[in-house]
Parts: sequence; structure tokens; C-alpha cells
Amino acid sequence: MVMELATSYVFDAAHRIAGHPGKCAWLHGHTYRLEVTVSSATLNPLGMVMDFDDLRDVVRKAVLDLWDHATLLAANDPLGAAISAVQHEAPDRVVLLPGPPTAEVLTREAWERLERQLPTGVTLERVAIRETPACGSAPSRHAT
Ligand SMILES: [Zn+2]
Repeated sequence: MVMELATSYVFDAAHRIAGHPGKCAWLHGHTYRLEVTVSSATLNPLGMVMDFDDLRDVVRKAVLDLWDHATLLAANDPLGAAISAVQHEAPDRVVLLPGPPTAEVLTREAWERLERQLPTGVTLERVAIRETPACGSAPSRHAT
């Protein structure tokens, strides 16, 4: 029997969707909720898919340490260089992404980063990112 382990985390970040026709074009922030579910067909000797603390460490290193209290921007957004110029003491707090920092792109990035860092035998089942309690993104099972 495959068992799942579901966890959620909160981080704060700024972003903007450059070129958006509405208010999302302006730099603003969210308290994001990151939901991560992993699974395993076998339990470890302590009867766990993996220890919650170990999963939290993976999520912290893979995502939270990078994105919490950072400004998340598309790599081609000129605002990245402008913020880095005035916030030069913390260059890692401007994170440039391969696409617009939508919930969808953040979910994809988080998925790729988490999948690489999970221990052998533990499968990443679900990653979801909510910008607000009402709006978020998660990959569809039909996605390829
Ligand atoms: Zn937003």
C-alpha cells in the first residue's frame, strides 16, 4: 500500500508579472502557501514515509531558504537589476526565474527542485502553491 505524507509551509515574497494588463504588473507581495505531498510504497523502520522534520529540511533547502523574503521575477524583467542595485547587500534575495513568477511557474520550479532532493524511495506526489487563500496552482495529472 502506498502511503502519502502531506505538509504545508508558508513563505512571504514579492513578485510582479511584467506585461500583465492589470494590477499584477506592479511589484507586490503575497504570503504564499506551499503544499507538498510525498509517498512511499514502503515505510521506514519507524513506520514513516519519511520523518516530517526531514521533509521540512528538504523543503526548506530546496525552496523556502531561496524564496522566503525574496523578490521573485522573470529573468528578463529589468526590475531585477534595479532591485539588486539598491539591495546589493543581499544579492540572493532577488530570484530570477525562467518565466513570469506566476503560481504556475513557481509550482513547476518547486517541483523540479524538490524532486531532486528527496531521498531514494520517496516519490513527490503533489506540489501546490497558493498566492491567496482563494487562488493557487498545482499540476494536473493529465499534464505531460
Ligand atoms: Zn501577485
